[in-house]
Amino acid sequence: MGVILIRYGELFLKGDNKCYFEKVLLNNIRHSLDGFTFKLKKLQGRYLLSDFEEKNELQIINKLQKVAGLHSISSAYEMNTDIEEIKKYVGTLTFNNTTFKVIVNRADKTFDIQSTNFAAILGGVVLDNNPTAKVDVHNPQKELYVDIREHGKTYIFSDIIKCMGGMPVSTSGRGLVMISGGIDSPVAAYMMTKRGMSLSAIHFHSFPYTGVLAKEKVIKLTNIVSEYAGHINLYVVSFTKIQEAIHKNCKCEYMIIIMRRIMMRIACRLAKEKGIGGIITGESLAQVASQTIESITVTNAVATIPVLRPLIGFDKIEIMDIARKIGTYETSILPYEDCCTVFLPDHPLIKPKVRLVEEEESKLDIENLINEALSTIETIFIPVEI
Ligand code: ATP
Ligand code: MG
Repeated sequence: MGVILIRYGELFLKGDNKCYFEKVLLNNIRHSLDGFTFKLKKLQGRYLLSDFEEKNELQIINKLQKVAGLHSISSAYEMNTDIEEIKKYVGTLTFNNTTFKVIVNRADKTFDIQSTNFAAILGGVVLDNNPTAKVDVHNPQKELYVDIREHGKTYIFSDIIKCMGGMPVSTSGRGLVMISGGIDSPVAAYMMTKRGMSLSAIHFHSFPYTGVLAKEKVIKLTNIVSEYAGHINLYVVSFTKIQEAIHKNCKCEYMIIIMRRIMMRIACRLAKEKGIGGIITGESLAQVASQTIESITVTNAVATIPVLRPLIGFDKIEIMDIARKIGTYETSILPYEDCCTVFLPDHPLIKPKVRLVEEEESKLDIENLINEALSTIETIFIPVEI
């Protein structure tokens, strides 16, 4: 019978909490496969997915690769642990013009033949049935795994497909990701999801300076992130009045840093209101003027809850690689304006000082601006059909 073996990663670090983590992980797997028929069973140290429709297997594998906490999966053939049956099945496999190695894992110690001996016997079976195949134990083109488990079943497979790793979503609290239309923030969201965070998201837009397409792009990016994170409430905040007020009243080189601080204040206020434990941003040290340690210090000074910056030590190239892998890159590079590109000064401050920024901010009625922005928030439940 065709089955899928599912291995999980780090959960073993969790001692007494292991049961709780396993329960959440099982739930998340089930949830990710909503709409498919299947059976899910726990074996020692892994799960077994069976009784699915064969035509759905690839789609199921694809979904499982997006479940945080899973380490790897294999599409396998399940059979009773019977030496003759196993030999017969291995004899039906084709290994044309290829080098191979058989790897036997004997979790069932009552099985009388030692792993290496049984691997040699099965290697002989392959050679008998595939005259063009050759054994290569060091660098084989193909590996054949024979996993003899405790409960009288044996699993035979060739591929180990890597999954996300990390911790099950919702075992590490909830973060509010500040999501722009750029490359970095969706990757930051993914990184925290991978560590088990559930997500909410906040986006600031400057209609009509930024168009409808810019907002749709953010909705699309949040949709892609939700394939990993599950449901996300996306809070869309109108930033136009605030930007106009800063532009009108403050020195232009302070534009970006003041914007950042107001965004941070609004994000923290919303997070507290919703019981969210931390803010997530896509900042990476020294990538742009607003991401120097001085700028981060000045922005952080108004934060009232922890700000997580999972990309802080990443190069742009590394971030782009992850964006491609998770499927956000192509959307992120669509050329719509972000509100940060509106009223952009020629020379933003690279090393702002808190005292001077506060002096500049005192020209604004910040409290009123924030309250108005908060009172006009639009909430979008993601995923949505787009
Ligand atoms: P990104 O690729 O995520 O847009 P970036 O390299 O353009 O990042 P900045 O524009 O300096 O960097 O933004 C830094 C971070 O601030 C972003 O990663 C994001 O978390 C947040 N941010 C920027 N613009 C917005 C916005 N319009 N709405 C919500 N958050 C934003
Ligand atoms: Mg950006």
